[in-house]
Amino acid sequence: MAAQETVEHKYVYDFAEGNKDLKDLLGGKGANLAEMTNLGLPVPPGFTITTEACKAYLASGEQPAGLAEQIAAHLAALETGMGRRLGDPDDPLLVSVRSGAKFSMPGMMETVLNVGLNDRSVVGLAAQANGNQRFAWDSYRRLIQMFGKTVCEVPGEEFEHAIDEAKRAKGSTDDLDLDADDLRALVDTYKKIFSKHTGREFPQDPREQLDLAIRAVFESWNAERAVIYRRQERIPADLGTAVNVVAMVFGNLGPDSGTGVAFTRDPASGAQGIYGDYLANAQGEDVVAGIRNTVPLQELERIDKPAYDELLDYMARLERHYKDLCDIEFTIERGKLWMLQTRVGKRTAAAAFVIAGQLVDEGLIDLDEALHRVNGAQLAQLMFPRFQLDHGFEAVATGIGASPGAAVGKVVFTSARAVELAGQGEDVILVRRETNPDDLNGMIASRGILTSRGGKTSHAAVVARGMGKTCVSGADALDIDVPKRRFTVAGQTVTEGDVVSIDGTTGKVYLGEVPATPSEVVQYFEGELDPAAIDDALVKAVHRIMSHADARRRLAVRTNADTGADAARARRFGAEGIGLCRTEHMFLGDRRELVERLILARDAKERDESLAALLPLQRADFVEIFRAMDGQPVTVRLIDPPLHEFLPPLEQLAVDVAVAQERGEDVAKEEALLAAVRRMHEENPMLGLRGVRLGLVIPGLFAMQVRAITEAAVECTRQGVRACPEIMVPLVGAVQELETVRAEAEKIIAEVVGGSDVEVLIGTMIEVPRAALTAGQIAEAAEFFSFGTNDLTQMGWGFSRDDVEGAFFWRYLELGIFGISPFESIDADGIGRLVRIAAEEGRAARPGLKLGVCGEHGGDPDSVHFFHSVGLDYVSCSPFRVPVARLEAGRAAVVTAGSDSR
Ligand code: PEP
Ligand code: MG
Repeated sequence: MAAQETVEHKYVYDFAEGNKDLKDLLGGKGANLAEMTNLGLPVPPGFTITTEACKAYLASGEQPAGLAEQIAAHLAALETGMGRRLGDPDDPLLVSVRSGAKFSMPGMMETVLNVGLNDRSVVGLAAQANGNQRFAWDSYRRLIQMFGKTVCEVPGEEFEHAIDEAKRAKGSTDDLDLDADDLRALVDTYKKIFSKHTGREFPQDPREQLDLAIRAVFESWNAERAVIYRRQERIPADLGTAVNVVAMVFGNLGPDSGTGVAFTRDPASGAQGIYGDYLANAQGEDVVAGIRNTVPLQELERIDKPAYDELLDYMARLERHYKDLCDIEFTIERGKLWMLQTRVGKRTAAAAFVIAGQLVDEGLIDLDEALHRVNGAQLAQLMFPRFQLDHGFEAVATGIGASPGAAVGKVVFTSARAVELAGQGEDVILVRRETNPDDLNGMIASRGILTSRGGKTSHAAVVARGMGKTCVSGADALDIDVPKRRFTVAGQTVTEGDVVSIDGTTGKVYLGEVPATPSEVVQYFEGELDPAAIDDALVKAVHRIMSHADARRRLAVRTNADTGADAARARRFGAEGIGLCRTEHMFLGDRRELVERLILARDAKERDESLAALLPLQRADFVEIFRAMDGQPVTVRLIDPPLHEFLPPLEQLAVDVAVAQERGEDVAKEEALLAAVRRMHEENPMLGLRGVRLGLVIPGLFAMQVRAITEAAVECTRQGVRACPEIMVPLVGAVQELETVRAEAEKIIAEVVGGSDVEVLIGTMIEVPRAALTAGQIAEAAEFFSFGTNDLTQMGWGFSRDDVEGAFFWRYLELGIFGISPFESIDADGIGRLVRIAAEEGRAARPGLKLGVCGEHGGDPDSVHFFHSVGLDYVSCSPFRVPVARLEAGRAAVVTAGSDSR
């Protein structure tokens, strides 16, 4: 073995050779099995085939050279260690073949258990198990079922149907009522199903079983559900999965055997304690599939105290070692505990904050690490509403609060229907007996998931928690009839389309729409809770971690707001100024008429009159905003959109005019409006008369706004409120545009400011690619740049921002051209490069040039990290995202080498 590995690429690692830091190569499961092996925990022996082998296989469709020999060598070592041979007729070694990618993808890829069983070794297995025929035949039928489904694509329902038939014949619904003879007969049936679908006999050669299972696991990396899951979770598509080949241990050998899942803290709330589920006389897949209802892990103390105590000891050791919540899968085989898996466990958003705070208190991690362990997406989730405490609704059922939150929606019973209704804008709750990986699309489309079976570790629970969706599992009072699209509960029938409310924290299910309240985290941000006085572990942890983020971050966080109310709220959320006040919103409502008059003005006098009427209104708008921001900078953008957006749509106007003419009404005004709309019609309005171009073409428009801003600032200053206006010119592509606007603005500012103590900065948006590429020139005329990454993305990619996401982005995502819409998260390589060039060249021309971003990306976690790396001064985002940006800016500032927060 050694000689071979020195000459060839090493594709196979014994568990004793790896460690937890080799996740890229060995996948999460393999790396952690190696770590536990090296910690001296009882892990069944085995080896890991690397992700590189998988990638090589997926690239060529062939096992890479040397892999087969390396597997043979490691298998031989495993056989020697165990004193048994794979599939030996008298005393067989059986192995499981399990997937394990770098990032956990629960239930998305394949596992085959009991590899090595065949018509002869099943007899040996029974002998080995003290003559337990039932166990041996049950193991064999499980192999044929999993192998058939996974490796040979035999429809799983056929096997399920056959076992249901066998149970029905016995008058039972419990697998345990099937005896050895029933299972032997079931094996025959399964083999027939297998040959019917594959045209061959079930393979009897153990090594052939092993090789085919390994290939199937490799291929499952590209299974549709795995691809969807990766897209949803933003896991790169090119990582590949490792394959773990592990000696089988059995939890289904009788009442002194069993299997379970354990968490070192509550993954839902973060509370300290022992959490988990245990299922006696069962294999691991029975727990995950929710086939039988589990008992709480604490019951194990009664069932098998020595094993329970040993498990608790390992849990404590693992938590100290990983310095984090660990989840664990274990099996007890006739009283002997085996550790089958551990990993840093998935958790809810609330638990992430609470646990990070606890670990700091326990001295296991410092605050920088705590900051790294939470993220903006989790914080955003905590800002969702929850059901009101005194809503007065009676719960009709109580299941397990598997993933917290409050979800209200129309009941649907299939994944397809969930996708369909959600596509029509409906909120839906997916109701299933239990979910399986085929429900993934439906789960993504739903507000919440409700199941009648399974615990906190069922598929529904694990996947929902990962997605941040509300989930209630195991609500067994629900009698679900999928074909009839209805369930009955507490004597009532609920049919598709009826509204239910589910509480993922308490597990309660209500009929009808339960009113929700804001989260306490929002109340805390609003300043309604005093962090020193509150007795809420979550709010305390959020307060502590946010304070640290604020202390660490280098980026300032501003907000995009155009009303005093929004500005005030954003300030309460921690905004340190307004990065974008869009003035066009101030021209809507009852001011529309004034704008129409401006657009329809026949001469300079009429135009100036309407501008003069707008001036005091605008001034009042700015006074309100300056007051709300009280001394913080306020970037006011001069009017940006094409003016026809303020006029009625052409088609509607044409119809109205025609109808009115028909009736003989006086339509002179409407006709003038129609003529103006026709005149102003543009084929590509986003590339037309908008932004700075309006200011250059319509005399007095920008001047009115500059005057209103400056007068408001002077007025506030006189009243003792400091105002720090920054006037921002949109859509600049050439320095000459900015210089022209600037020259006029400076005159007005000088005249209005007079001797008062008001400073007004003038800067520009960088949102046209040419502006980014000539930033050095533009900086000569700008005191600040604010990156309008919405338009920069639109014009940089040539993607119409109003059309493409719905039209064809799905295909781009499917093809992996990008993993996420570039309108949502900055395209660092392309649009980000424009930002970097402009920042560097702008600062080179004008040291101290203030740099910010005010496109939607300013509140997107990944983009915040990018803007930090570029060296911007601030990000600006909608009020609700301000806390998220603060947190992410803090996270970007702490050193994050070597760890990942997924
Ligand atoms: C932008 O283009 O990024 C921007 C902030 O401006 P708007 O979205 O108003 O075009
Ligand atoms: Mg823009």
